[in-house]
Amino acid sequence: MTEVLVLVDSADGTVKKATLELLTAARALGEPSAVVIGAPGTAAALKGQLAEYGAAKVYVAESDDFAGFSVAPKAEALAQVAGQASPAAILVSSTPENKEVAARTALKIGSGLLTDAIGVDASGSATQSIFGGAITVQSKVAKGAPVITVRPNSFAPEAASGAAEEVAVSVALSDAAKGAKVVDNVVEEKGSRPALSDASVVVSGGRGIGNADNFTIIEKLADSLGAAVGASRAVVDAGWVPHTMQVGQTGVTVSPQLYIAVGISGAIQHRAGMQTSKTIVAINKDPEAPIFELADFGVVGDLFQVAPQLTEEIGKRKG
Ligand SMILES: Cc1cc2nc3c(=O)[nH]c(=O)nc-3n(C[C@H](O)[C@H](O)[C@H](O)COP(=O)(O)OP(=O)(O)OC[C@H]3O[C@@H](n4cnc5c(N)ncnc54)[C@H](O)[C@@H]3O)c2cc1C
Repeated sequence: MTEVLVLVDSADGTVKKATLELLTAARALGEPSAVVIGAPGTAAALKGQLAEYGAAKVYVAESDDFAGFSVAPKAEALAQVAGQASPAAILVSSTPENKEVAARTALKIGSGLLTDAIGVDASGSATQSIFGGAITVQSKVAKGAPVITVRPNSFAPEAASGAAEEVAVSVALSDAAKGAKVVDNVVEEKGSRPALSDASVVVSGGRGIGNADNFTIIEKLADSLGAAVGASRAVVDAGWVPHTMQVGQTGVTVSPQLYIAVGISGAIQHRAGMQTSKTIVAINKDPEAPIFELADFGVVGDLFQVAPQLTEEIGKRKG
């Protein structure tokens, strides 16, 4: 069976969920092979998890240069593995850094690039949601094995055992790839909540919450579900939460299994960032609010009553 390369994202010795989703998606196109690119010792901790999610091979390209440099060395390594494996496709999760790696890789191997896919099929075509989510298209590259970046949460990860046979790759990096060096890393302070862009549950608050202090209602509901917290632009513009939490056309695009919109009207620019969520729940006091056109489940009511009751009920059910 033809190989499908999956670029592995990891943190603290654990494979990221987005990669497990890609290993699952890759099975529609061929046999998944993982590609680990990183500092020496990176792959050892990841191999078990990659085997559990069906990686037949694990290509290991390890060098100190990957940590010290920007995206170019990764693209060189991925292109080299692609040259070796002749894959049916290369899947990469849609983060800003990975999209650049994917674009450079496609150029190096003479293939086409498809970004922000929300689905892939056996023919190698990708499903994309475009123009703020107003249109869904099927795209296919005109030449070569497609390099496809896939939005996190587009697939549910499913375990499947794989041999995870290790294939060492020695990469001779060009001087050009070492042109831009990372000189410092500032780690953003993060709470215990999952990251917005790849959380499987997101609870977002809108202008309906009234003021910054009331945002704790949203946070409590999110924490009861182990969810990430998002917001509409109105809330961000009011200065109640930082822009990093904004969901929508000019914010983060999310595609979780469950999206709960609380006190959000559902403007087109907000919908653009969340309408591919699998299940959408809206809480809004206005029965005519546009968010209800999109919602799978809706509660017409005052969020100050509904959201705390929901939080309490979830707490009870969790015991
Ligand atoms: C170029 C451009 C880009 C934009 N990008 C984004 C973007 O990325 N993300 C984004 O979100 N917006 C974006 N916007 C703004 C967008 O058009 C809307 O203005 C914004 O989404 C509205 O936010 P909201 O739904 O929180 O507020 P509103 O539209 O004011 O809605 C508040 C909702 O709360 C409900 N409500 C009020 N009180 C209660 C209560 N007690 N209980 C229950 N419900 C209540 C109301 O019925 C109402 O539906 C953009 C706009 C432009 C022009």
